[in-house]
Amino acid sequence: MSAPHSVPHTRILAGLILGAIAGCAVNVAFVDPGPPAVVPAWLKWVNANVAEPVGTVFLRLLFVTVVPLVFASLAVGVAQIGGLGAVGRVGGKTLVYFLLISAIAATIGLALVNAVQPGRGLPPDTVAELQKTYGGDAAKKKPADFTVLEFVKQVVPNNPVSAAANLEMLGIITFALLVGVGITNLEPAKAEVLKQFLEAVGDLMVFVIQVAMRLAPYGVFCLIFKTTSELGFGLLQLLAGYAGVVIAGLAIQGFVVLPLLVRAFAGIGPREFFTKIRTSMVTAFSTSSSSATLPTNMRVAQTEFGVPVRIAGFVLPLGATMCMAGTALFEGVTVMFLAQVFLPEPLTLGSQALVVVLCVLTAVGAAGVPGGSIPLLMLVLGSIGVEPGAIALILGIDRILDMCRTTVNNIGDMSAVAIVWAGERGREPPAAAPANSEESAKTS
Ligand code: ASP
Repeated sequence: MSAPHSVPHTRILAGLILGAIAGCAVNVAFVDPGPPAVVPAWLKWVNANVAEPVGTVFLRLLFVTVVPLVFASLAVGVAQIGGLGAVGRVGGKTLVYFLLISAIAATIGLALVNAVQPGRGLPPDTVAELQKTYGGDAAKKKPADFTVLEFVKQVVPNNPVSAAANLEMLGIITFALLVGVGITNLEPAKAEVLKQFLEAVGDLMVFVIQVAMRLAPYGVFCLIFKTTSELGFGLLQLLAGYAGVVIAGLAIQGFVVLPLLVRAFAGIGPREFFTKIRTSMVTAFSTSSSSATLPTNMRVAQTEFGVPVRIAGFVLPLGATMCMAGTALFEGVTVMFLAQVFLPEPLTLGSQALVVVLCVLTAVGAAGVPGGSIPLLMLVLGSIGVEPGAIALILGIDRILDMCRTTVNNIGDMSAVAIVWAGERGREPPAAAPANSEESAKTS
């Protein structure tokens, strides 16, 4: 599976910066900051008929590759890692790392939100106003069902096609792992046919990703323009304490904890690490979707870090689905913030420990799409006695926080692939020269 060619990172970054400048300028000039923000009809029209369609084409061209890409790269990855023992070793390290960084993230979030207490000073009439304004949106969102049986059904699909059709990524992952292990047990000739077929599927998706990435500068411009032009800056100001805690926590996790781990376990310094993953970060920030960023991550891992497909194809699809440290932190802060607003008594230490555990688990189960964690977050709220509809308070600024937490989710994915590869390098046959190194030079 070759690494997809893409447009230079600078053009995507230019799309991001220009989109943000244009969106903020239009917002300041024409939008009543609210809350609730009052967006003029012409701007709604431009966003609905120009910005959103272009952004949606870009996002969908990336999404359309996700199921085949995850399935093919994971199955080939498992088949090539070599035997159940090796799969268990790499898979074990990967999962332990995912859980560890998610637990660290949720703990950082809880420590900060306890220290700052952003929910305590919020005036009751503001709370009532926010509930009135966003209560309708909250009512449309259903808390996730979380019984052991539901979870088992998510993880073990009874029909791979319906799992794929419903984007049940955990089910697709299980099926791909089984197929990959199954391939290693087939006669060599048959195994080869399947491996070549799956590799060809992966290469085919690379073509679609190339098309999508040509649109990236415009798609990113439009996505950011829409978000910033309609953003309620008044609401952002009102919730500045809460948003500040989320963003500060994400910054600590993304720019202190994760680079320290990468330095300690992969021997890569922060400057080099962030320079190499910048295209991934820009894609994650602008799409708010770990799944949509997966194709870019696969390319960056291969071209920038020289990670072979068997490792990148194994760790990154798992990461896009299960490694959401930024989301775990966001969930922890939000649950505590809403508990501070709505519960008369502070949560006990035991309940807070439960919040950390639930945030880590639900972040694993959250879909890697914009707002994918919201139904699960509502579930956590319900389990500590806060009405799930209380989510209305933060929905108006969720997109901007989603952009930030998805970026941290993505830094987590890239740190995982760098660290797992550093540990495996000695055990694998020597890696070929980084794929498409020429292209890597071009994109940097
Ligand atoms: N948008 C996030 C992601 O794709 C998921 C979430 O936290 O809502 O990683």
